[in-house]
Amino acid sequence: MEKPLFPCSYMRITQGVMEGTHKDSYAFDNAGKDTGIDSVRAPFTGVIKKIYPQDANEVWLESVDVVEYPDGTIDYMTMMFAHDNDISNLSVGQIIPRGTAFYEEGTKGNASGNHVHMECGRGKFTGTGWHKNNAGYWSINNGKHPSECLWIDDSITVLSSYGYQFKTIPVVKEEPKKETESTTPVQKEEPKKEEVKKTPTLIFTCKSDDLYAINLKKGEKLYLE
Ligand SMILES: [Zn+2]
Repeated sequence: MEKPLFPCSYMRITQGVMEGTHKDSYAFDNAGKDTGIDSVRAPFTGVIKKIYPQDANEVWLESVDVVEYPDGTIDYMTMMFAHDNDISNLSVGQIIPRGTAFYEEGTKGNASGNHVHMECGRGKFTGTGWHKNNAGYWSINNGKHPSECLWIDDSITVLSSYGYQFKTIPVVKEEPKKETESTTPVQKEEPKKEEVKKTPTLIFTCKSDDLYAINLKKGEKLYLE
């Protein structure tokens, strides 16, 4: 069963849920690697249910099958994407395999810079796909927080997660093939791989006793010797 993958190679969330134009919604903006235009991959194998070119070229993608949510529950998922400048490659009914770059960041629909506006909804596409919320913004039906819908893996570089904790897809180890009709003893244990020991990178040698100030980003580690 598919686990919906965060749709961009570079996670750099620039506007979070429930704030500004995302008020009363779980919409979030991702601006990718830089200010250029990054592509957006299908988080799951989905079918395009709706395209709304009158505004920000919104596209709704519904999973063709149920998917596994990070909390282990199983359901369909629908996602809405916005701001691609050119969606002439897309049409309703089109099946997009998981991982396919099918959408792009852009500025269509009053976006101040290239990014993709996204919103996850639990379940299948319903009604017109969205509704005008209490703050007056159009929001996907059955909206759900992105970190409760999308997984990440090592193909994604996290530049800024906006403090959201995304669950990592566990790496599936390939089972060694079973030898069924062999007279030679079956080697049961895989040779253990030596762990690569990380050596700390030398960035500064202290020449005299003193107090030093250093800027650290959240999650960064500092080693002293
Ligand atoms: Zn947005």
